[in-house]
Amino acid sequence: MHDFNHIYKVLATSILETISPTRCVACDVPGDVLCPSCASSLPFIDLSLACPRCGAPYGRALCTECPMPGSEEALLHPEEAFPFARARATLSFEGGAKKIIRTYKDGDELRLDAVIASLLCAAIRGRMRQFGQTHLSHFLTVPVDNETDWSDTSVSSSALEDWSHWASALAYVPASPEAVRRRDFDHMERVAIRVAARTGLPLAHLLTSERKTHDQRELGRGERFANRNGSFSLAVDTTGPIPRRIILIDDVFTTGATLSAASRVLLDGGAEEVRAVTCCRVW
Ligand SMILES: [Zn+2]
Ligand SMILES: [Zn+2]
Repeated sequence: MHDFNHIYKVLATSILETISPTRCVACDVPGDVLCPSCASSLPFIDLSLACPRCGAPYGRALCTECPMPGSEEALLHPEEAFPFARARATLSFEGGAKKIIRTYKDGDELRLDAVIASLLCAAIRGRMRQFGQTHLSHFLTVPVDNETDWSDTSVSSSALEDWSHWASALAYVPASPEAVRRRDFDHMERVAIRVAARTGLPLAHLLTSERKTHDQRELGRGERFANRNGSFSLAVDTTGPIPRRIILIDDVFTTGATLSAASRVLLDGGAEEVRAVTCCRVW
């Protein structure tokens, strides 16, 4: 029976490939969902130059995205201060990066969950510069229950901290109930399952998306923070104490409003520190 299922699956896949071959999400060339050439030319953020607090590219010396605590700007908009202690993002939200996220969320290409998980793992490990085309094409074909962590075999000379050693759990920003209904799946939950398998971190389903919020894309910065405030709560089936050190993942960091609202719930629930990791960063 098992063999038959396997043969059936291989056959179905090859028929589907003949009728409609897989094409690269970025350049449309037939082959992988992301071809090696596009994978290696993604707009990677150099973490060694990024702001250590919010992950903004080139913000290491002076960050314009997260005002220093106590500064005039921070006092003026205290509701916009990030509650997560640190943040990292892998890609600048442009070109191929944009296409990956959009095609995964709204283009029905679910295999991109493996690509997004790989990109998130690179940021969690602090090893983006070692992220190469071989890794990507390899992980596209690895089933979720047989994940290995490519970064263990890559160059280990990075000076950046590996956050998977710091964290005690992995959490994700859940999609709104209407988005789950529309897509039939929670896009970050799928990715989180893969990231957890690769990093060995326990996946904690800690958050639920509470109420309908306006589409963040239509709002300005201040409005985004107000819109997101109170939009998450602790999942009702959360049993036992909240993990102390949480890596919170999401697809895109725009203003940080969504990650702030979600982090605040985790911190209020008893987490000691939250670090945010996203696949992309609007810049
Ligand atoms: Zn391509
Ligand atoms: Zn910053």
